[in-house]
This record gives sequence, C-alpha cells and structure tokens, in this order.
Amino acid sequence: MRFSHRRMRRCEKCKGSSFGRSRRCAPCSGTGVQTKGSTLTVKVPPNADHGHQLRLKGMGHEHPEGEPGDLLITLRLDAQEGRRWEDGRLVQEVSVPVTTLLLGGKVRISTPAGKRVQIDVPEGTRIGDRRRLQGHGHSGGPLDIEFTLAEPEELSESQRRALENLRDSGL
Ligand SMILES: [Zn+2]
Repeated sequence: MRFSHRRMRRCEKCKGSSFGRSRRCAPCSGTGVQTKGSTLTVKVPPNADHGHQLRLKGMGHEHPEGEPGDLLITLRLDAQEGRRWEDGRLVQEVSVPVTTLLLGGKVRISTPAGKRVQIDVPEGTRIGDRRRLQGHGHSGGPLDIEFTLAEPEELSESQRRALENLRDSGL
C-alpha cells in the first residue's frame, strides 16, 4: 500500500542548527524544521483488522535536535456495498420479504468471503433486528446481520389481491 503524507523534516540548509538560536535561516526561519510531503510504501499484514495500528519507527516528524518520532497508521478497511463497520464490527444488511419477517423462514446471504449461507429468520423478526454469525466476518471474525425490508418492485395481480385481503382482515 502506497500513501502520501506531510511530515516535518530537519531543515536542509541549517540541519536544525538554527533551532532556538537564530532566525536567519530562511527556509526554516529558525525553527530548524520544514514541512515536506513524502510518499511511503507500507506492508499491511494479510490478516490486519479494521482499526489495526501500524507503527513505523522513526518515520514521523523529525525534531531539530532529538530523535524523529514514530508514524502511527490506523487501517480503515472499506466495507463493500451493503456492509459497514460499526465500532470495529462488520455489519451486513440483509433484505427480507415482509412475509418472511412476519411468518419466519430462511434467507440466503453472501458473506464477505463470498460464501453463500442460509440463515433462519425467526417468526416476528423486526426491521433492524440483528443476528451475529460467528466466523463469517472479516478474516474469520463475527459478522452481524441486520434485517431490512425487501420492498417488492411491482406487485402482481394476485399479490395485490392478497394484500387487499390482509388489509381487510385488519393487518
Ligand atoms: Zn534552517
């Protein structure tokens, strides 16, 4: 992974020697450091988690006299469509037909690893209810399933009639 950042480097002209002494060094005006852009290539461990911190020794800001600081990098793994990170947990939205929410049933989902998994939807599941699937999240961690309502694109004649019957029954 390559990225750019800005860091303080020791002044090229005075090598930091003007720090606290003279204001005559033009590039750093006596601070002994200059802000510079730099590009780094970092190796990300294959099983690194969202929020994982990498410490690059000596790659942080330089000080005119002391040791340079460490650079801390916090990894942010982008979740794919329909998934998001929440407090370090991967949450996946699963849309379920209204009848499955009300009566219970099964739905098939695609896990982040690309596996198709069938999960039970208990009777009376509400929109926003969650279930935790162990071992199906990022690098074998837990995956939180959040049920949402699958809205039908267009109602067929018989579906419309069935819904009208439901409405007439008071549901
Ligand atoms: Zn200088």
